[in-house]
Amino acid sequence: MNVDAARLRADIEANAQFGAVDASEGPARTVLTGSDADKQVRERFVERLSAAGLSVRVDAVGNIVGRWIPPSCDPDAAPVAVGSHFDSVPRGGIFDGPLGTYGALESVRAMQAAEVSPARPIEVVCFTEEEGARFGVGTLGSSVATGQRTASEALSLTDDEGVSLATHLERIGFAGEDTIDAAHWDSWVELHIEQGTKLTSNDAGVGIGNSLHTNNHVVLDGSEMAAEKARRVFTTDPGMGVIRHADAGYEEALAEANESDVPIPMRDATEGE
Ligand SMILES: [Zn+2]
Repeated sequence: MNVDAARLRADIEANAQFGAVDASEGPARTVLTGSDADKQVRERFVERLSAAGLSVRVDAVGNIVGRWIPPSCDPDAAPVAVGSHFDSVPRGGIFDGPLGTYGALESVRAMQAAEVSPARPIEVVCFTEEEGARFGVGTLGSSVATGQRTASEALSLTDDEGVSLATHLERIGFAGEDTIDAAHWDSWVELHIEQGTKLTSNDAGVGIGNSLHTNNHVVLDGSEMAAEKARRVFTTDPGMGVIRHADAGYEEALAEANESDVPIPMRDATEGE
């Protein structure tokens, strides 16, 4: 089973046009929650989820889930959830967040093309305001999905101009009525580009932390060496976590990871914070 790297790249590059800003180091984007760019990013994502046959739902804080029910799976089995976020810090990188969201979608498309049928439904997830750049609270959307904060608490948060999250989401059409509850998930997998230096300073190419959301959280850093290692492991198959649950190809992916000299797990990403 292979992912279509060109298709994934096209998705990430198309996404990067929304909120694009000039930066000397390469392409960058500013996508604050509730901005016009955020609306465009979300609308495109929903369109791409629907095009792949996923059914889309949106919760009160704008978290988006696309659900794929593989043909032979038990539709009532706890789903494997995979995804990340789209909001960015000002002048953020184009992969921070979108790699995880579009990588998750691409892993589903790859399984569909290969006619792999996992035992569980797959949910492709985009959380709202994970960077906290507009409302000052990081991992906001996932904190509502995991029950650490109520939707109304999140919705009443205001930005620097005193405008609430509720008002912003209504304006861009993403104040949904569905419920997204992470307690219903079998597991959570996130492919994520880390813009910080934590992994680099620990000489780690990959960090795997436990229980950040419900199960595993994978962080890749952006240093050239680590990025190259990561590319070999994860762009070969960004759905490695999904495959693990699908029980198909995991050993192969792991062998490739070992061959490429990436120690897995490198270290607990939550260590030393
Ligand atoms: Zn991020």
